[in-house]
Amino acid sequence: MITFEEALKIVINSAKETSFENVGTLESLNRILAEDIYSDMNMPPFDKSAVDGYACKKENIFNEMDLIEIIPAGKKPLKKIYSGQCSKIMTGAMLPEGADCIIMVEDIVENKNKIKFIKEFTNTNICFKAEDIHKGDLVLNKGIIIRPQDIAILASVGKVNPKVSCKPKIGIISTGDELVEPDITPELSQIRNSNAWQLIAQIQKSGAVANYKGIALDTKESTFEKITNALTNNDIIILTGGVSMGDFDYVPEIMKEIGVNILFKSIAVQPGRPTVFGTKDNKYIFGLPGNPVSSFIQFEMLVKPLIIKMMGCTEEIPILNIPIGVDYTRKKAERKSFIPVTIKNGLLFPVSYNGSAHIHSYAFANGIIWMEKGQSEIKKGEIISVRQL
Ligand code: AMP
Ligand code: MG
Repeated sequence: MITFEEALKIVINSAKETSFENVGTLESLNRILAEDIYSDMNMPPFDKSAVDGYACKKENIFNEMDLIEIIPAGKKPLKKIYSGQCSKIMTGAMLPEGADCIIMVEDIVENKNKIKFIKEFTNTNICFKAEDIHKGDLVLNKGIIIRPQDIAILASVGKVNPKVSCKPKIGIISTGDELVEPDITPELSQIRNSNAWQLIAQIQKSGAVANYKGIALDTKESTFEKITNALTNNDIIILTGGVSMGDFDYVPEIMKEIGVNILFKSIAVQPGRPTVFGTKDNKYIFGLPGNPVSSFIQFEMLVKPLIIKMMGCTEEIPILNIPIGVDYTRKKAERKSFIPVTIKNGLLFPVSYNGSAHIHSYAFANGIIWMEKGQSEIKKGEIISVRQL
């Protein structure tokens, strides 16, 4: 049995980057940028007014000035400013030649085209050409997750078809004779399939494409048929269930039969010990334990980093460091364990949690913390690392 850190390293090291595609600016939201973006122009492209006001010479502001022109945004000024003159100028309009200062509308009195400044001080109120960005400057880095403010930058440099990483395609297979889909009322001895739907949501949230392949029966034939079918058009296959010591747990055996190179079969972690991982022809296959919390956690901690790496994302999954609000102990400490917590008023609190079947506990959790092998208690006030959910 390997440690969780070793397992993560094996998974990450096996990652091959996906290809890329060009998409529309808005379609690129939440995608991974697959090229560096440079500005095709200076910003601002000309000296422009930061306020609605009067463009003039700073040396003249305490004298009365003649108003000679009105300059709307988007129009080129027609008149040069000479001593004793000013032009009314709108925010974003181009500074007229000869002016080096703009006094604000709020700071003047006007009388028959004569302008008088009535304050003691003014800023220049000019945004100077290229003060934000020079033509050719790097404005966005390859590997970022594109956010709304990045969309603004793409738009401002005229990048209407940015290159983004292709989304990995992920086939999902639930296994278990006891499973029925959510729209069916289970008979006694049956339960609803929640893992597949949980995984589809996790995959979509991670920026990949989920292809649900249905429920495999607990038979070798059904498991074989579902995996081979899913392998034809997916980059990653995730199965849940059928990986433990039960008489009908066929997933590892069938993975082997199909020719999957199994890289590990169990991890010293809780929940999620019997997690299986292997590769075949540049494809990745995970057999996650059937209990919903195990499947949830192993996706978050093991599969999501693979997806991110495959897409060439350079951003780390953020970790917060927050004090815990109570003492916390656990009975067994022979494995690393993941614990659901909630963050309230700047403190962490473990939520009530009965074990790997208890997915309902995660409805009250907005973070995950972990305890290392051998560690059985955390003292109130200790600063703890937390992965937000
Ligand atoms: P297994 O890993 O197949 O031994 O399943 C472990 C536990 O998880 C059993 O109680 C299963 O009934 C449950 N389980 C397996 N698959 C799912 C699923 N898709 N949705 C919800 N629970 C499941
Ligand atoms: Mg099962």
